[in-house]
Amino acid sequence: SADLSVRSLTFRYEAGLAPALQGADLELTPGRKVALVGPSGAGKSTLLALLMRFWDVPAGTVFIDGQDIRSYRSEDARRLFSLVSQTTYLFTATLRENLRLANPDAGAGDFERALDQAGLRDWFVRQPDGLDTWLGERGQQMSGGERQRLSLARALLQNAPVVLLDEPTAHLDPLTEREIIHTLHAVLKEQTVLWATHSLKGMEWMDEIVVLDRGQVVERGTHRQLMKLD
Ligand code: ADP
Ligand code: ADP
Repeated sequence: SADLSVRSLTFRYEAGLAPALQGADLELTPGRKVALVGPSGAGKSTLLALLMRFWDVPAGTVFIDGQDIRSYRSEDARRLFSLVSQTTYLFTATLRENLRLANPDAGAGDFERALDQAGLRDWFVRQPDGLDTWLGERGQQMSGGERQRLSLARALLQNAPVVLLDEPTAHLDPLTEREIIHTLHAVLKEQTVLWATHSLKGMEWMDEIVVLDRGQVVERGTHRQLMKLD
């Protein structure tokens, strides 16, 4: 696990445009769960993309264990994060290969544990003839919720210091959304988590909620504090 610190992060996509992020601050210590909550366009995806080094981070704004993220090679910086996004891509035809890509070094026990934790055990017990056929070629039959579970299983296999959740329930029906939130809560106990979402629903278990609006942090506190219950 790593310490992650975002300090006064300002970022614009183009000169002349309003900044997508303006002076955003965030601290993630090992095991901490932080929700980044805000409406569409608030800057959540931009912040996650900067952490993953999809865009160039301005100097002196993101630190991992006290070290400027720009001093990491971008592949190394990317390896610090496991991403569960709104859309789960099936990268290859077989589900087994989709999992294998997440961590080529993972052993059979790791696969079993990750699938079990993500609630996908049924997908391989129905195929009892060994690792190669655990999941078969049934990717196209996966429901939205099952795809998000696959994405979670990939993130668990990557075993990166920080798990980034980018609206992982955005395209799910409300019942499936509730199940996926429940699974994430049950599974992500030890991990350091940054969860971007437009809603406070299911965020009771996060340690801190950071509210973003038009690129700025406008409020922060526990779920109870934000709901004005304390
Ligand atoms: P959120 O994830 O909270 O919906 P985004 O980070 O996607 O917000 O967007 C923040 C702001 O940056 C918005 O004003 C959006 O229009 C703008 N933006 C996002 N991506 C790009 C891009 N590739 N080029 C230009 N502007 C962008
Ligand atoms: P280490 O102590 O070096 O982290 P582990 O024995 O914990 O090694 O893990 C061995 C392999 O299993 C690594 O590739 C790691 O990414 C993976 N792994 C560890 N924990 C889990 C887990 N809960 N689910 C799936 N894979 C895991």
